[in-house]
Amino acid sequence: MKGFIFFLIFILFITIIFPIVLMKGYDILPTPNNENDLSDKYDLEQINETMEIEVFDLKTNQTMSIELDEYVKGVVAAEMPGQFNIEALKAQAVAARTFAIYRIQQYSNGHPHHPQAPLCTGIHCQAYLTTDELRQTHNNNWMYEYWPKIEGAVESTKGEIITYDGKIIEALYHSTSGGMTENSEDYFVSALPYMRSVSSPYESDSPKLHEVKKIKVTDFINKIKEKYPSANLTQSNLPNKVRLMEKSESGRVMKLMVDNVVVSGREIRSLFGLNSTNFEITLKGDTIEIKTIGNGHGVGMSQWGANGMAENGSTYREILKHYYTGIEIKELN
Ligand SMILES: [Zn+2]
Repeated sequence: MKGFIFFLIFILFITIIFPIVLMKGYDILPTPNNENDLSDKYDLEQINETMEIEVFDLKTNQTMSIELDEYVKGVVAAEMPGQFNIEALKAQAVAARTFAIYRIQQYSNGHPHHPQAPLCTGIHCQAYLTTDELRQTHNNNWMYEYWPKIEGAVESTKGEIITYDGKIIEALYHSTSGGMTENSEDYFVSALPYMRSVSSPYESDSPKLHEVKKIKVTDFINKIKEKYPSANLTQSNLPNKVRLMEKSESGRVMKLMVDNVVVSGREIRSLFGLNSTNFEITLKGDTIEIKTIGNGHGVGMSQWGANGMAENGSTYREILKHYYTGIEIKELN
């Protein structure tokens, strides 16, 4: 009997337990947890402003352990000019905290792009600078004048996060929307109910509201052909071969037809290093002019728009509720 039980346990181990252990051990690119299956380590109930979070430093390739709100301060300082209105800085603080918690819940075992940690220090997640880096980037005057203001924005919104339907949101934001933000599904994959296209009327101070990029026609053609070899483009057929196919509700380019190839606005943006997908291509002699409106993906809160709203009297709560549709601002715990 003893021998049989041992045999049974052995079989159980070989067929079920061993493969599970093996699979876990080789889980190199972890899949994100879904919202109902959050890691115990980052249960929302256990999250507070002094919790240590892990952030992968792209400059040193090291993982740093930072208190949540110390991290949020470094994000606000890296993502927004300290000169911005305090209400805009507070809106940024709440959005940055929300984004960070969302990421550490979704990628508690590390992000597929950086398995070392759920967050990195680059714009891939949110830009983050340490106080030493801020001192080097700016000067002592900046640290004296603006760092306490940023600390104040984070401390006065302590524990505040954005939720929709009781769940923490993916609080995306960008520099300048160019007048209208973008529906999430028109730039990314999923249609998020709180990421709808809304107006962003106060962005006139943004340095990148309008930009014109000039490229030699030959360079333009070469770049396109390098990426899409089947596209038959020449200087003379160019006006007939590049056509707009689809625009999003907010006016950004979704699809272009380049000869026989369908190219997304995002691909053109990345190919020519454009500020946004809100662009217009014109041929002027042997030059291609690409006019862009706005800066960034356009989804969620516009940072320059947030500052414009604050300058026109809106509070950080009003700013967040404007850019994230139907949300609530809640406190952790
Ligand atoms: Zn990242």
